[in-house]
This record gives sequence, structure tokens and C-alpha cells, in this order.
Amino acid sequence: MRVAMIGTGYVGLVSGACFAEFGFDVACVDKDAGKIERLKQGEIPIYEPGLETLVASNVKAGRLSFGTDLKSAVAKADAVFIAVGTPSRRGDGHADLSYVYAAAKEIAEALDGYTVVVTKSTVPVGTGREVERIIRETRPDAEFDVASNPEFLREGAAIGDFMRPDRVVIGAESERAQSVMRDLYRPLFLIETPIVMTSLETSELIKYAANTFLATKITFINEIADLCEKLGADVHDVAKGIGLDGRIGRKFLHPGPGYGGSCFPKDTLALVRTAQETGSPLRIVETVVDINARRKEQMAEKIVDFCGGSVQGKTIAVLGVTFKPNTDDMRDAPSLVIIPALQAAGAAIRAFDPAGMHEAQKLLPGVTWCEGAYDAMQDADAVAILTEWNEFRGLSVDRMKQRLKQPVMIDLRNIYEPEEMAQAGFRYVCVGRPGRR
Ligand code: NAD
Repeated sequence: MRVAMIGTGYVGLVSGACFAEFGFDVACVDKDAGKIERLKQGEIPIYEPGLETLVASNVKAGRLSFGTDLKSAVAKADAVFIAVGTPSRRGDGHADLSYVYAAAKEIAEALDGYTVVVTKSTVPVGTGREVERIIRETRPDAEFDVASNPEFLREGAAIGDFMRPDRVVIGAESERAQSVMRDLYRPLFLIETPIVMTSLETSELIKYAANTFLATKITFINEIADLCEKLGADVHDVAKGIGLDGRIGRKFLHPGPGYGGSCFPKDTLALVRTAQETGSPLRIVETVVDINARRKEQMAEKIVDFCGGSVQGKTIAVLGVTFKPNTDDMRDAPSLVIIPALQAAGAAIRAFDPAGMHEAQKLLPGVTWCEGAYDAMQDADAVAILTEWNEFRGLSVDRMKQRLKQPVMIDLRNIYEPEEMAQAGFRYVCVGRPGRR
């Protein structure tokens, strides 16, 4: 079985390397020649734990290759995955499908023999049918089927998620396409991974329904956290108390500065638009989108409030700028709203992130980028934790106090204990947990 992976980003590179690990021949294609060149040199263009080793061993075994030549990769393939970006379209929030459709046309021109063309990108309902139409129009003679196979991996844990997923969703309607897809995921049948085999439309919707549900769960606990602050309750205990109910589940009940990243913001918005246009609006999700956008601004206000109502002329140390730990992805990170809001309020920012600074430098002008967490705290009036990288969890309170002008911490990820910080002499605030101010 030969696979062509079109788009070698977070999803394409991980999926390609994992399919190679399953034993298939995988050709990863990207139109970004610089990215392909780096991959050919053995350099991984993204930060993803474990990926470098996985890529290296599969390249060595001759199962994984990289190139810019879509035509030859597609011509040889039994299955072609489209894993290009589907960002928000400027202005209206719909998914921008131009990359998907451009890829479909190029694939059509190169098809040779029966091929399953699979959309792995997150695409709105109806996209698979349009891909089918484009291919048929471009190459009326081609022998192909279109399938949908949305990806559920999380950045930072992507390989484990791909290799041991909770489920695999496949939208494939012909027996031939179903059989190719089953063969591709056979290694996961062996570990009894549930496979949901369904129609193209249903498969496309499952991905959006999953992401909007998770975004809703996060937003729910964020609002409960705000309520806890008013009522003197502890949101961690509330999360545990409700999460132990199997109908609710414990995951995704951790409060913070609002969801970000490359998926939830754009996918919630895209589903809202689809639902409005079909006359079946998703009012819950509309509200989630509004609350989450506002939350990021509120977090900047929370920092200002805790710094005595003004940050004019003050220096704030920011720990973590990526939307979550173990990734360098800066797309829609809360820091992109919080840091500029603090700067607009007159603060100088000293920031550190273990993996995201290279990308963040382009997006956050005027920030002093530091060598480490303690360095960021040098002569700062307060420290704000925006991302829960492991290395921020065990910082020495003494060393922090030596560096900071005064011991003030705003912990938007709840990685420290309010009582312990108070005992250590910190003015400390987090999200949804009572503590002495
Ligand atoms: P990305 O931006 O990291 O990668 C996309 C890649 O596609 C880029 O390298 C780009 O150069 C390449 N590309 C675009 N058009 C091309 C073409 N015609 N031919 C060859 N290459 C082309 O994006 P990503 O984060 O990997 O996301 C891809 C899709 O997967 C999106 O639809 C996203 O919503 C979905 N998804 C992402 C994640 C995630 O955690 N990042 C998880 C699940 C699903």
C-alpha cells in the first residue's frame, strides 16, 4: 500500500510518519520547498515530542520520503490524503477551502489507476462532494473514490493520539474505498480501536461536532471558575466532583485563559456559520465563541487589576506564549490578545517560552524575549503564567522572589497552590480558586 500525504504540517507530517511506522510506503508532499528541504536534511520544522525519532527511523527504513513533486507521489499512490490548512476565511469566519480545492485539482491531474482521495483536513460538510466534483470535472476518465477521515490528534501528544486513538472516523461509501481505508487502519483494528464507518457528510460533521463540544466544555468550566471566584468555591473540586460522573467525564474541565490553537477557534466559528446558513443555528456554540473571545480580554484585565489597577510603567514577566504546552504553535494563542492588551495599558513585557518564541517574535512586537523563566522575572513587577509548560511547575519561590521587584503572581493555568504561595509570601491569584490576596 502506497500513501501520498499532501500537506506536511502538524497533521500531515505526523500522520505520514505514523502510516510509515505502520509499514506503508509514504510520500509526504508540500509546496513549501523550504520545509521539504529541512525535512530532507533530517530537521523537523515543528516542535512535537517524539517526532524526530519517528521520522528518522522511517526515513532510514526507506518507507518515508519528502518532496515537492505532487504528481509522482500521487501517480504511485493507492490512497492520497489531503492534509492542507483550512484556516478561517477573513471577514466571515467560514473555512477557507482554497488550499483543499487547489490540492484536489492537482491530485486529479496526476491520478493513475484506482485511488482513494481522502480529506484529512477539517472541512465543512459538502467539501468531500465538491472534491469529488472537481476531480471528475478535471479528469473524467479517472478511477477514484473520495473518502473523509478527519484527524483528532492533539499537538503535543500527536504521535500517541494517532497510534492509539479513541476512535477512527471514516466516511466512505463504496466497498472498494472502505476496504482501502480498513487496510490502512488495520494495525489499529488489532488494538481494538473502534472504527466509525459512515457517509462523507456525517464524517465531516463528526469532526466539527467533536471540536465544538470540547470548546463548549472548556467554556463551561471557565464560566464556573468565574462563579467560584464570586462565591468562594474551588473550581478544581467542582471539576472533580462533576467529572467523576461518567456522563460528564473528567477531561477538559480545567479552567484557564480561554481556548486557542489552530483548531477550536476556527472550527467553532466555521460550524456556527454553516449552521446559520442552513437555518439551523447552533446558539450554544455562538455563545461559546463570544464568551471565549471576551475571556482573553478579561484575562488581561485580571492581570491589570491584580497589579493595583494599572500597569502603566510596570514590567510584567510572561511565562509561556503558545496556546498549550509541548507545541510551538502560536495560532490563536490567548497570549496574542493578552500581551498586546497589557502593552496598550502601558506595561513592558519580558517573556519566555520553551518552544514558541521563534514563531511568537513575528507576532508579538515590542516584547523582550528572555533566556529562561527566571531571566524573564528580572526586575519585573509581577509574573503571569499563560501556558502550563512542565518547567514552570516547579519554580523555586526563593529564586522568583530574588528576581521579581515584588512577589506577585497571576497564574492563569492554576499550576501553583494558593495556600502555599501565600505562605511563601506571594500575592497570588489564579482562576476560580479562593486564596488570600
Ligand atoms: P499546517 O498549516 O501546519 O500544514 C498545512 C501544510 O499544507 C503547509 O505546510 C502548507 O504548505 C501545505 N500545503 C498547502 N497547500 C498545499 C498544496 N496544494 N500542496 C502541498 N502542500 C500544501 O496545518 P495543520 O495544523 O497540519 O492542519 C491541517 C488540517 O488538519 C487543518 O484542516 C486542520 O484544521 C486539521 N487538524 C489540525 C490539527 C492540529 O492539531 N494542528 C488537528 C486535527 C485536525
